Amino acid sequence: MPLLARTILTPLTIEISPGAVRRIGPVLADARITAGGRPAIVLGPGIGAELADKVGKDLPTAEIIQIEAGTVESAMALADRLHPHTYETVVGIGGGKIIDTVKYAATLRGLPMVAVATSLAHDGLASPVATLRHGNASPSYGVHIPIAVIVDLALVARSPIGQIRSGVGDALSNLSACADWELSHAERGEPIDGLALSLARTGAQAVLNHPGETTGPDFLATLAEALILGGVAMAVAGSSRPCSGACHEIAHALAEMHPATASHGMGAGLGALFATYLRTRYSSGGHDSFDRMSAALARHGVPRRPERSGSPPVSSPPSSRTRRPPGRAGSPCWSTSAWTAPPSRPPWPSTSTRSADLTARSQWGVRA
Ligand SMILES: [Zn+2]
Repeated sequence: MPLLARTILTPLTIEISPGAVRRIGPVLADARITAGGRPAIVLGPGIGAELADKVGKDLPTAEIIQIEAGTVESAMALADRLHPHTYETVVGIGGGKIIDTVKYAATLRGLPMVAVATSLAHDGLASPVATLRHGNASPSYGVHIPIAVIVDLALVARSPIGQIRSGVGDALSNLSACADWELSHAERGEPIDGLALSLARTGAQAVLNHPGETTGPDFLATLAEALILGGVAMAVAGSSRPCSGACHEIAHALAEMHPATASHGMGAGLGALFATYLRTRYSSGGHDSFDRMSAALARHGVPRRPERSGSPPVSSPPSSRTRRPPGRAGSPCWSTSAWTAPPSRPPWPSTSTRSADLTARSQWGVRA
């Protein structure tokens, strides 16, 4: 009987626990990632000397490398130092910037990469994507997924609350991204991957329905799982589609128009709420989605209005620096006051209206 199945790429090992940063050595050995060879341990400047010292003692053969992370240049410079004949694997310890930088450099060098997360600001810890600053933009690059993922919940609990809130926004945005994908499948015939959809949505639903406090250990473990599942979903889909829809177009637009305001995850959460509002308004299903997402964002302190995220209200007149689609300045649909009203449901816009809308969006120049 033929085996009708497919092979998918996932990390060999996933470990989520308090103090997991001290488990790097056993994970490298048990998963046969390195058999006594020399790993490179890459840390950001934000990691305390005490932690770097502990990791160095746990892995005496490792070389500790400290870098300024987050840009393509920093990733290229790291790749220059990661000669495959010198190192057997590379371990990135830190937040999203470090992990993305190390993922990119490891991919350039063809080295296995282990992600050790000390914060949960976005879903990059297990994804095949690295977002790095390049010039004035922060494009996403395709990379190999980490061969192992370790999340230290004790360090995550000590990270700034804004980073956890950002992770909540990014995880919940998967609900909107999946709904966008299904809508595109129904309306435009876009191919859809049911497994990727299930993985991304299951993790996000767990975060949506979890009753725990934002910094509670159970909630942080659920959030970590949701972010990892989102990354694996992207690997399954072969694109960021299960975790990136209109929500991320809005997040990227906010990042370009108002840099250094909302974090990526907060922008994605904000965009997800707005996209959910639009889908609820123009389609006939999922009417409680908006209220449930809004309640979850509020429960964890994720901004639900642009001005709360540090960005100016988008209904205000644009500055000369900002780019808006023709005819959209001050558009009522961007008015934050409209968000609180229970959405009514006029018919879905005609195809011609949607085409014009899409044209306007492409002129705006935002990315998916
Ligand atoms: Zn994201």
